[in-house]
Amino acid sequence: MPIARVALPVRAQSAFDYWIPEGLAVGPGSMVRVKLGPRRLVGVVTDLASETDVAPEKLQPIQDIVSGAPLAGDVLDLGAFVAAYYQEPIGLALALAVPPTAGERKLRTQAPDANRLTDEGHLALPGRLARAPSALNCAQLAAVQAIAAADAGFAVFLLHGVTGSGKTDVYLATADAVFARGQQVLMLAPEINLTPQLLDRVREARPDLRIATLHSGLGDSERRAQWEAAASGAAQLVLGTRLAVFTALPALGLVIVDEEHDLSYKQQDNVRYHARDAAVWRARRRNVPVVLGSATPSLESWLHAREGRYRRLDLPQRADPRAAMPRVSFAANRSARSSDGVGATLRAAIAARLSRGEQSLIFVNRRGYAPSLVCAACGWEAQCPRCSVRLTTHRVPPSLRCHHCGHGERLARACPECGNVDLTPLGYGTQRLERCLADAFPQARIARVDRDSTRAKNAFASVRERMNANELDILIGTQMLAKGHDFPRLTLVGVLGADNALYSADFRATERLAALLMQVTGRAGRAQLPGEVIVQTDFPAHPVYTALAAHDYARFADLLLAERKDAQLPPFAHVALLAAEAHDRSDVDAFLGAAHAAAAALVASAHPAVIVFSPVPALLQRRAGLERGQMVVQSARRVALQRFLPEWRAALDSLPGRRARWGLDVDPAGFG
Ligand code: ADP
Ligand code: ZN
Ligand code: ZN
Repeated sequence: MPIARVALPVRAQSAFDYWIPEGLAVGPGSMVRVKLGPRRLVGVVTDLASETDVAPEKLQPIQDIVSGAPLAGDVLDLGAFVAAYYQEPIGLALALAVPPTAGERKLRTQAPDANRLTDEGHLALPGRLARAPSALNCAQLAAVQAIAAADAGFAVFLLHGVTGSGKTDVYLATADAVFARGQQVLMLAPEINLTPQLLDRVREARPDLRIATLHSGLGDSERRAQWEAAASGAAQLVLGTRLAVFTALPALGLVIVDEEHDLSYKQQDNVRYHARDAAVWRARRRNVPVVLGSATPSLESWLHAREGRYRRLDLPQRADPRAAMPRVSFAANRSARSSDGVGATLRAAIAARLSRGEQSLIFVNRRGYAPSLVCAACGWEAQCPRCSVRLTTHRVPPSLRCHHCGHGERLARACPECGNVDLTPLGYGTQRLERCLADAFPQARIARVDRDSTRAKNAFASVRERMNANELDILIGTQMLAKGHDFPRLTLVGVLGADNALYSADFRATERLAALLMQVTGRAGRAQLPGEVIVQTDFPAHPVYTALAAHDYARFADLLLAERKDAQLPPFAHVALLAAEAHDRSDVDAFLGAAHAAAAALVASAHPAVIVFSPVPALLQRRAGLERGQMVVQSARRVALQRFLPEWRAALDSLPGRRARWGLDVDPAGFG
């Protein structure tokens, strides 16, 4: 009997066997509907076989084939690679490649037309002036030519260009040659729905290009239509977030990963893959070039480039000759108990902008009103009942909220411990800053952009419009504002609260801070008007700040790499993090203790190049009512860790009496 091995989207380590009814044309890559117990699931056929170990009376048939061509070999291989490398079930990895099937019936009668592709998630920006295309400058041309010289074969290019250096034009010029050969380009971007500007730019520059967009803001049927356009070859450019790396692309000729350092490329749950690394893998599998672009490349990519595996291409200057890099200066933080955080230097700079009719952006890494609420009489602090963190005070609407688990409660009027009615919100977030600046500059038009203010659809787009129409003077926001927005009259960027990252226990915190600051800094003075950046810090001599002032990421990256090497941290060590959580701390400890023993035994018997660290509590010890702990295993050699992991995972699967939920994260974004 013909048997198909079907990878199903469940947490099982292997595929399931089904028999193939006569007349059903099933082969590797076919997307099929089957029953698993009471459930009907869509799975992907990985292999055909003629025998099975499943008892005949238990063996079930494939129900039918989901319409559409089977997944291509490189997509199947990518799924298999992701499953093996990240220690994830093959069925879950391949499920990432399967388009949504809900809108299927509607689509049979209404075939998608790539020429009329729409995308619901795209926020049009009215009133944007069409710009005459400018010729590439020398650095851009050199980059385009270097990529072209790779002759369409696999090679990785690290395009390191300062903010405003014109990386997008390099992508487009490189892509043009690919389109001219009739091939497709896959372009990944972090969080497209937050940065519709990229899509606007591409549309404006190449109005006739057939573009498919894939991101989580799309509904199922829309996503399927976009997926079909890519899979049929109708779309020339496929622009999407990390999931798009699994899109079927019959004529793939080039892969581009914009903002390659962005941590949102690493999925944090379900299948914990890194889309940039998957993109590089896929480019190698298809033997096409891949371009990784960033103003602040990840240390992983930086090291690859330094050691010659990636080719670094530099765009050291802003493309617009009128736009110089902004002047960066530092001012002392206000005292810890101050309520608004804006010091005299920054205040004066804002006032100067107001008098000249220019715009200011004040950036603070905390939403809400104040990061805590304390009783000055007895020292009580508002704590989340479910997490080991303080609650954030919000004023709009008035409440106390946990930013980790979503817990919310009414704003306490009196201290629950001593009855004192004089509770103090300590520190400042975006809401408090908004209020203080409104008091200080009553005539200024102020808007705030954070996750609370932009929940309403199009709220963010409207802020962008008002900025562009010069209807706003001061914009206050969180890191949502850091990326890719281009406001010609914005000449001042103020940064508050950045020092927090310097105290962080997360080994990537300073790398992330540098990336963020350089992005934020890139928002100032993009056009003729010169920009200024004022960072409030108590440590202006810290390398992260001196690098920012000198606009010298390269030196900073080298310095950080030296530190990472000394500490044997990524990218010098290859790491897997085992995280566990349970209601009782003792269950977490018991599980991690057994996991540690299993790892130590494996290392002693067969894996000498692997180092096993002791279990520790997670940075956030308790979240949403669960106790959390973790342990790290690492090796200086990736292959050594990759050989160790499947054996360790098998040992973890068979630990008796487990009461803890656990997950393994290969190449984790952080240790917390
Ligand atoms: P990046 O992505 O590197 O931050 P962008 O691609 O957004 O930079 O380009 C910044 C600005 O410079 C854009 O307004 C772009 O149109 C402009 N630009 C790009 N290339 C050139 C060029 N060769 N000459 C003049 N302006 C350019
Ligand atoms: Zn009290
Ligand atoms: Zn909480």
